[in-house]
Amino acid sequence: MTLALILLVGAALVAVLAPSVLERMTLSAMRPSVVLASWLASMASVLFFGCSAVVILFWPEHAPAEGMIDTIVRCFSAVQHTARPWIGESLAVAGIVTVMALAARVVFFARRQSTARAQMQDFHRDVVAIVARREPDRGDVMWLDHPLPMAYSVSGRPGFVVATEGLSSSLSSVERDAVLAHERAHLSGHHHRIVSICDVLAKVFPRVPLFARAPGAVKTVIELAADQQAAKATSPAVVSSALAAVADAALPQPAWTLGLGNDTTLRLWRLRVAPQTRYSRLACCAAAAVTITLPAFAALVVVLVFSTAACIMVA
Ligand SMILES: [Zn+2]
Repeated sequence: MTLALILLVGAALVAVLAPSVLERMTLSAMRPSVVLASWLASMASVLFFGCSAVVILFWPEHAPAEGMIDTIVRCFSAVQHTARPWIGESLAVAGIVTVMALAARVVFFARRQSTARAQMQDFHRDVVAIVARREPDRGDVMWLDHPLPMAYSVSGRPGFVVATEGLSSSLSSVERDAVLAHERAHLSGHHHRIVSICDVLAKVFPRVPLFARAPGAVKTVIELAADQQAAKATSPAVVSSALAAVADAALPQPAWTLGLGNDTTLRLWRLRVAPQTRYSRLACCAAAAVTITLPAFAALVVVLVFSTAACIMVA
């Protein structure tokens, strides 16, 4: 039970404290991909720690590593061994019931979202594909005859980009390429799926700060990441000028699509200061690893401190 408690404390620490840290990272000059990896690792760690705690509570004998943890937190384990067996069993049953209820909510919201997304994709396949024009050398872009500049991407197999003729007439050719590169970055980065997962988790855990704040924050981070990819394909100055040109054209964007996004001020600033560092994949892995291991150690320290305090009080 000691290990389960440590995992639950770790999950709680991440769920409550991580959002503020991660939102501050978004406003810093850190690479958007690293910030995105940290958000995803935080959410994964809360789910992993929580589910692992329930599995350990339900384990028939001592779960693996439980003995080692009991040795480290010796005093707490002595206290819990004097507790009545039904307490541990009740906790295990309550944990299983909670996990099953949450799994049912995940399935419900995920199915509802997937149906809505499928309807939007059908609409584009049946209606937009008929009225839109395709260029032979840009088969993944559907051009709509509209005077205002706009572009958005639709996920699928394969995904595609919808853009207006106004985008071509309002922007230079290199700025238009930057906008298309931004939309293609959403498709290649699986950003639609990431946003969908965040939306579902926010509906399942509306009172958990990490999940409740993730959709808005992650949408900002993926816009920054797409800008970075577009800047790589063209240049930061070109992306900035394209962003500034389309910022005022507020056309409504279909649901379940990703467009040029908001947060223009933040994005223009990031394009000016964003460092073009190397080893980005390594940095993402390191950020994810730190995000998962740091709360685990913090939780161990918290349980150790409380255990020692309990020892002193009992003695
Ligand atoms: Zn975008």
